Amino acid sequence: MRWTERQQTLLQAMGLRLWAPPGALPAPMPDAGATAAVATATTAAATAAVTAATAATAAAAAPMAAPTPTPAAVAPGTPAPMAVQPAAAAATAATARSPSPTDSLDWPALRAAVAGCRACGLCDSRRQTVFGVGHARAHCMVVGEAPGEQEDAQGEPFVGAAGQLLDRMLAAVGLGRGDGSPAQQVFIANTLKCRPPRNRNPTPEELAACRPFLQRQVALVQPRVILAMGRFAVQSLLDTDAPIGKLRGTVHHWHGVPLVVTYHPAYLLRQPADKAKAWDDLCLAAELMARQDGGPTGGQTGGPNGRQDGG
Ligand code: URA
Repeated sequence: MRWTERQQTLLQAMGLRLWAPPGALPAPMPDAGATAAVATATTAAATAAVTAATAATAAAAAPMAAPTPTPAAVAPGTPAPMAVQPAAAAATAATARSPSPTDSLDWPALRAAVAGCRACGLCDSRRQTVFGVGHARAHCMVVGEAPGEQEDAQGEPFVGAAGQLLDRMLAAVGLGRGDGSPAQQVFIANTLKCRPPRNRNPTPEELAACRPFLQRQVALVQPRVILAMGRFAVQSLLDTDAPIGKLRGTVHHWHGVPLVVTYHPAYLLRQPADKAKAWDDLCLAAELMARQDGGPTGGQTGGPNGRQDGG
């Protein structure tokens, strides 16, 4: 569905936010109907957040590259809808780490390391590892939780019902998980590369053991924005136990990369009323990408398996 000019004018007059890639406005969130374009924050607030986020990103260290900034520089402001977490605060919370042997791996070596990983007990029950899929230099990186049964069987993230919803959500803002322009593609990865038995919750030990792989994937992709989906992915990345509802609407950072929090598509299948909020989160991520014209676009070419595909 496309918005007519009249509808756009009306929605904008109502303070509802629309985002569109150049030349096309997005369809609303699948199944969200008329509420799809409903934004909980005003355009002005979102724009301010994006502007501040862009400045914060520019001020932050290059993604995954620099040592942890001085914690004393942290000056958290009053949390507000669509506020930006100060980059230094984010770095303090989620950047400090020891060097890992994965830090120097290229795509093929990283893929091989994941495939052969036996760092935690999940290697005993997995059918195969699920590395990731998408464009190797996508401007947007989607991070989910862990493979489920179908992902474990197929070796690709988000291929079940939740994955189909994710694909429709991404398509609504002009994004896909294939080849093409990095501005219009995503790279999708999980915090865990192996399926927990019976889809149980990941343990902190499993998340910690797997984290270097995700860190290296982010370093190779160099996304302009990370879209973190669901409680376990979000809480693990941001090192917090705050609920999604409290974390979304704010631009966080992970290793210098702006990070937008949103609901997991599996949750949205159970709670379709929250699709409107997820739509707002997607719009925020899309705006962050669009604003970073000076962001990384060139450099390393070629994908993790030669078809610019992490699957
Ligand atoms: N849920 C996730 O978080 N990741 C997947 O790959 C599939 C379902």
